[in-house]
Amino acid sequence: MCRLVGASKTYGVRHALGPIDLEIVFGEKIGVVGSSGAGKSTLLRLISGEITPSTGTVDLNGRPLPSIQVRERSRIVGFMHQQFDLVPQLSARKNIEAGNSGRWSLFRTLAALLLPIQDLNASEVARHLGLEDHLNERTSRLSGGQQQRVALARLLVQNPEITLLDEPVSSLDPSLALQILETLCGKTKTPVSTPKTVIASLHSPEFSTRFFDRVIGLSAGLIMFDKAASEVGDSDLRSLYQESNLDFTRNHENENAPQIWGRD
Ligand code: ADP
Ligand code: MG
Repeated sequence: MCRLVGASKTYGVRHALGPIDLEIVFGEKIGVVGSSGAGKSTLLRLISGEITPSTGTVDLNGRPLPSIQVRERSRIVGFMHQQFDLVPQLSARKNIEAGNSGRWSLFRTLAALLLPIQDLNASEVARHLGLEDHLNERTSRLSGGQQQRVALARLLVQNPEITLLDEPVSSLDPSLALQILETLCGKTKTPVSTPKTVIASLHSPEFSTRFFDRVIGLSAGLIMFDKAASEVGDSDLRSLYQESNLDFTRNHENENAPQIWGRD
């Protein structure tokens, strides 16, 4: 479904990623972990087609990414950026309904933007993410966590074959983060359609092993490990976060301690 061969990215003189080889199969739920600057966002941006590789190739469904037209690409891959990329002047509802634009004709998209027509699926997704009371508010007036949920809702409405998420729960409080990761990774039955294939960058290694099937560890732009979540061990994570003081072990005495390695 997605294949990177010898893919690398250099911004000017700064080397950000690779070269890496990677194969992603339909339906996989992949967490990408690594410290800040490891190349997580660059990897997602390469797969989305937002940036082109400096060397190597990126293929989606067996076709070179540059050969896929933008509109078709939006049905194959959807991307939630770290900065959400919402239209601040529009209501939360209009931002969420914009997830339909890859499927709808230009006329229908414009009509939905200008007229008070409401998309039922968008309403359902918004309700599921606890946004029903904020749908008519200007997006710029919402809190960071609410804006993050609007961006997630737009992506659920878009429902692409590959859902790319750059730190999808970074602005959410922990209980909401858990609930949303369950939805994104299809761990709970929901009334809304859940993403098919997911690749998410995460700050928390705990979330990656708990919710995702496969975990890719990046360090200095290279893949340090790529394995089933159940096989990721302390030493794998240590190799990524050597310089930090995070405690990778379970801490049963203090529930508030940085418990980034719990899996029940
Ligand atoms: P992560 O998401 O893991 O924090 P990034 O992929 O954002 O890492 O960045 C990887 C490296 O590439 C970093 O050294 C970063 O400073 C650099 N980088 C990322 N984007 C740009 C850019 N647009 N221009 C120059 N350097 C960049
Ligand atoms: Mg990043």
